[in-house]
Amino acid sequence: MTKRAYNFNAGPAALPLEVLQQAEKEFVDYKGAGMSIMEMSHRSKLFEGVNDEAEQLARELLQVPDDYSIMLLQGGASTQFAMVPMNLLSAGKTAAYVNSGSWAKKAIKEAKLIGETRVVASAEESRFTAMPNLSQLDLPEDTAYLHLTSNETIEGTQLAAFPDTGNVPLIADMSSDIMSRPLNVSQFGMIYAGAQKNLGPSGATIVIARNDLINSSQAGVPTMLRYDTHAKSKSLYNTPPSFAVYMVGLVLKWIKGKGGLAAVEQLNRAKTGLIYGAIDESGGFYSGVAEAESRSLMNITFRLQSEELEKLFIKGTEEHGFVGLKGHRDVGGLRASTYNAVPLESCQALADFMKEFQRTHG
Ligand code: PMP
Repeated sequence: MTKRAYNFNAGPAALPLEVLQQAEKEFVDYKGAGMSIMEMSHRSKLFEGVNDEAEQLARELLQVPDDYSIMLLQGGASTQFAMVPMNLLSAGKTAAYVNSGSWAKKAIKEAKLIGETRVVASAEESRFTAMPNLSQLDLPEDTAYLHLTSNETIEGTQLAAFPDTGNVPLIADMSSDIMSRPLNVSQFGMIYAGAQKNLGPSGATIVIARNDLINSSQAGVPTMLRYDTHAKSKSLYNTPPSFAVYMVGLVLKWIKGKGGLAAVEQLNRAKTGLIYGAIDESGGFYSGVAEAESRSLMNITFRLQSEELEKLFIKGTEEHGFVGLKGHRDVGGLRASTYNAVPLESCQALADFMKEFQRTHG
């Protein structure tokens, strides 16, 4: 039996054990090719199959309509922060952004380098402990797109629903909650996410975009930074991150085997229920950072009454086989990332540890 940590890392993060074992089996000799995925041509039939399958599974799981392209790119979600405005923000137009926290701010910073950018909703007043209210957005008339972050990985907040933006394309950074729940893709102009939380290892970034947006890229954008380049070539314009793409395919197949996104969401609710339960039933020993209606199903942020106690808590978790519970360095506190591949047993073990820690330190 392989010994596995209770892995609550924020990303790169836990992968399904079954996926790792499948990759291990195929590692040295993929389907009788006499070589690993990493050693074969990305123009080979075998790799083309891997690439197509990953795309098809993503399309199937998210029920992506036919007039959307799916791309697997490099550069992480951080490159998307720049690619979105480079391709879609034309002169005379304004990019509208929702400032929901640390990652939204990074996206806004990049857009400002490219063109006119306006923050149309912000959670700054609540110090990002809740998602901003998006029910009455006032978008400038010349809005090129509205960008939001569906899940703020650092603060532990998540949008429960998405605004109706009419003809204005809605663009979402879903890096930390893609494929964690069913989604109506047709509500969006574009969705992007780094793979290293819910989809696989780092190195691949998924972009799902409506074709009319892809085809309206600004002139003068360098070839590698254009969506149409990658959409036209099925993500094979240049050498792709082939092993990461293969792993994404395996993870998507695993999600499908679990029963798809509705089943995965149900499991995620059960998992986070255990940990939020331990917080809520602690009588204030633990306090959740996010307000109830904005609580994330992926990143649970919480505090103890003193930093000293938090240090003791971290030390205790490390001694008991838990990994990754320290909050992000920018905000401190504690964070448990409960992405799709984190098993229910890990969440149960953490909830049990929390109760025991309270009993001995409360
Ligand atoms: N957006 C969100 C919501 C994230 O959580 C992250 C990574 N933690 C990023 C963007 C940046 O992703 P990458 O490291 O792939 O550039």
